[in-house]
Amino acid sequence: MEYNVARGTRDILFKEKRRFKLVEEVIRSVAETYGFNMIETPMFEHTELFARSVGESSDIVNKEMYTFNDKANRSITLRPEGTAGAIRAFVTNKLYSSPDMPVKLMYDGSVFRYERPQAGRFRQFRQFGFEEIGARSPYVDVELIMMVKAILETLGFEGLKIKINTIGDTESRNNYSKVLREHFGAHIDTLCEDCRRRLETNPLRILDCKVDVNHEAIKNAPKIKDYLTEASREYFAKTLELLDSLDVKYEIDESLVRGLDYYNDVVFEIHQEDNKYGALGAGGRYDSLVKEVGGPDLPAVGMAFGVDRLVMIMEEEGMFEDENDVSVDVFVMPMNENMNAKALATAEVLRSIGLIVDIDLSNRSFKSQFKSALRKGAQAAVIIGEEELNNNALVLKNIETATQETIKEEELVAKIQEIVSL
Ligand code: AMP
Repeated sequence: MEYNVARGTRDILFKEKRRFKLVEEVIRSVAETYGFNMIETPMFEHTELFARSVGESSDIVNKEMYTFNDKANRSITLRPEGTAGAIRAFVTNKLYSSPDMPVKLMYDGSVFRYERPQAGRFRQFRQFGFEEIGARSPYVDVELIMMVKAILETLGFEGLKIKINTIGDTESRNNYSKVLREHFGAHIDTLCEDCRRRLETNPLRILDCKVDVNHEAIKNAPKIKDYLTEASREYFAKTLELLDSLDVKYEIDESLVRGLDYYNDVVFEIHQEDNKYGALGAGGRYDSLVKEVGGPDLPAVGMAFGVDRLVMIMEEEGMFEDENDVSVDVFVMPMNENMNAKALATAEVLRSIGLIVDIDLSNRSFKSQFKSALRKGAQAAVIIGEEELNNNALVLKNIETATQETIKEEELVAKIQEIVSL
């Protein structure tokens, strides 16, 4: 019986895994310069947490969660996003008692959504997320957007678009929802099944319908900007003004509403010019969530990158330098089993000075071993035969120049450094 990977999941091997790590490392190190610190939260939480925070009316909660009962009959869900768990952790660990607000935390990890798999859309994927809790200010939102821009520039991206919108505060949204219900109510027969449900639960979501992107009633729908409260209007205007003054390019997208219930006011997404895989990252302000999950009434803002999509685009655009699946500096080649012990000791010496060393202990032919050394990109090979074993010697081969010499064991470290740069 041969098993396939589950639909929507994949194995990430060698080179690609290194690339994931590299990207996450760059994100972390840039974010540290903005004062964010890493946390890690569990991969599963009580289902109730996501239902309350991400929202009963969201597609994620309705259709996409991996939910099961554990052996004690508790309803458990694999996290479909990172914010709910991070805010739960903020409350559980009483981080709100810190005298230094806002608290800036970040995390990376896998998230799980039962979505229809397609290019750049998986059922398990990695997110790198940020939450900044304890401040409500356009300056804070803009600083987060500036960090997003800095991270993407450090990774080497150019020409990405930041799409921004406001979905207003609760009062704005209640007013707007009422108007949208009336508007879409007159077109109910033309709406998809999901949108008919959304008409009741959250009509803003209809604007984000992916079934018919050219739907007339959606295109002609009233705009949120005409229903904002004074406070929300000012908040958004100030945010845009700051972005302009700091020369951060953006595009207002009035159809941007985000698929999660906890947002208010400023929301944003990052897109590539051709938008091949959808958003590379997204976020916004969420001022009620901390209270919603049992903490004090603290405002917050956050965002998450989809790491898989970043890596995929960087691969397509040739933004990574490494090419080999496996790459070593030195390959150690014992010619038969009697030389294996000496080969092991030799490899240890080379590793102790920081070299990446592979060794063939299955004693294949010289030719097979040497081919492996070439395939793995070794710059040098150390060959140990009967004669070398008896004379405390080694044969050192410079692979690039195709030259070799017999050296004394104690010369190895000095000689290898002439070939391999540390
Ligand atoms: P969200 O939590 O929906 O705001 O998503 C944040 C980011 O995660 C998106 O901008 C994408 O880059 C990424 N993302 C969302 N869903 C998927 C998916 N199914 N597969 C891969 N990446 C995803």
